[in-house]
Amino acid sequence: MDQKSVWVGTNWKMNKGPGEAIAAADALASFKLPEGVRAFVTPPLTSLKDVASILQDSPVMVGAQTMYWEDSGAWTGEVSAPMIAECGASCVLLGHSERRQNFGETDWTVNRKVQAALRHGLRPLICIGDLLDEYEAGVSQETLARQTKIALNGLSREDLRQVVVIYEPVWAIGSSGRPADPPFVSEIHTKLRSVVEEIAGHDGSIRIPLLYGGSVSRANIRDYVALSDVDGVLIGRAGWDPEDFMSLIASVG
Ligand code: PEP
Repeated sequence: MDQKSVWVGTNWKMNKGPGEAIAAADALASFKLPEGVRAFVTPPLTSLKDVASILQDSPVMVGAQTMYWEDSGAWTGEVSAPMIAECGASCVLLGHSERRQNFGETDWTVNRKVQAALRHGLRPLICIGDLLDEYEAGVSQETLARQTKIALNGLSREDLRQVVVIYEPVWAIGSSGRPADPPFVSEIHTKLRSVVEEIAGHDGSIRIPLLYGGSVSRANIRDYVALSDVDGVLIGRAGWDPEDFMSLIASVG
């Protein structure tokens, strides 16, 4: 039976060049995670190796923000799972809505990336999310079920033990977003739990962590983490400052 942990991650997005990233990693390096908390940080690729090396003895996991599914070849500008793994990363964000909206990622390319990450021992942190018009039309659940089922398509039980699914309403992330109401997140996550259990089995032997992300802050983090089907949070802006990130983690530990 997988134990329930509380996951807290921060996605630095296209922020922090190597100098700033190294300083932030140095600040995180001696942080003692509260028991039962699993933390991760996803720096930009230019800082991945440095941050992973600074945090190699820390329980804070380091991940990339995206990758390509081929291992090598004529794919100018892309980086592959083995390259990310060689930099010392243990996980990778896949399918973030900013990648889906601005860089043409689809449900099926996310699935190829998930499979490639798993082949190279990287834990896929799979982002799914509904658009504002889908939310307003009341079809969020259909979108999220489709994105989840396709992302997990073809995975073995061993693979399913590695994945994390992160619900990030597109209308709730970034400075133009507003945090989703906890009762709505609870309803969505309960339905998502049944989607992942349909895939991984209902016996509880595999508990796929389901995280929420979208304008998480000091003011609301505990409201999300308290929900029974929410296993943690992905934080953007509120977690970029390492002191703030550590204090957010401590607040749920
Ligand atoms: C995100 O974009 O993944 C995110 C969680 O951002 P924020 O917390 O800034 O809304």
